[in-house]
Amino acid sequence: MSPQPALQFPTGETLRRARGRAARIAEILGQRYPVTRLPLRHENPLQLLVATILSAQCTDAQVNKVTPGLFARYRTAADFAAADLRELEEHIRSTGFYRQKAQAIVRMARTLEEKFGGGVPQTMAELLQLHGVGRKTANVILGGVFGKPGMVVDTHVRRISRRWGFTVQDDPTKIEHDLTQLLEPSQWSDFSLRVIYFGREVCTARAPQCPACPLKRLCPSAKFRGRPPWMARRTRGGQRRRRGAPARPGAAARPAATPRAASRRAASRAK
Ligand code: SF4
Repeated sequence: MSPQPALQFPTGETLRRARGRAARIAEILGQRYPVTRLPLRHENPLQLLVATILSAQCTDAQVNKVTPGLFARYRTAADFAAADLRELEEHIRSTGFYRQKAQAIVRMARTLEEKFGGGVPQTMAELLQLHGVGRKTANVILGGVFGKPGMVVDTHVRRISRRWGFTVQDDPTKIEHDLTQLLEPSQWSDFSLRVIYFGREVCTARAPQCPACPLKRLCPSAKFRGRPPWMARRTRGGQRRRRGAPARPGAAARPAATPRAASRRAASRAK
């Protein structure tokens, strides 16, 4: 990662205090989720790599439906590298964006063959050389199969770390940097997995369960019901805007959709 500016906290707290809060949160999440297991089924690093590529814009459950058949057909990096693209696309079609994903898998497998003897490398720098592999995927692999520190920043970790006031950043790489300043490397992998579980169960994007949340005393967003002012979107003039507020002064706020309009919109999205 390139050099990053010093940490800033929207809460105004010191680094030491934020570290203390992060440690306490990690402890409570550890009690709530004592076992951390990757939701993507796999039996080796190559399978996890492929499953992680497939999980982009797709649920883990759907990926898990596809991978048993896929991994029975393609067992090694050489198998994937030599795959017929059309056939591979058919195997993974139900995960969405199947053309791009099939290409990414084949190109990734060819790089594994050409540069790494068909094995999955164990460093961030090497993993990033693989087509379709960004920092999130690389961190999943490092922590998930190699037992190395890996802070995975997915949509849940991004949202919740901002709600906790541990970062003012929006970019996942910068958020990863900020979070790694708050916890020990040995905690990164399990911590990020637990935040993902927590984001699915309690601190969801649309309806965070603040009144019943076990972290409400440690969370500066609790009093804002998960929508703190530092997460409000900025207008063109640089001012912060809450969801649903008018885009321009004097403009009418967007009206709530009528049931019929909402169902039309949902139907057109589903096409
Ligand atoms: S108090 Fe609300 S915003 Fe904070 S962690 Fe809990 S659910 Fe999320």
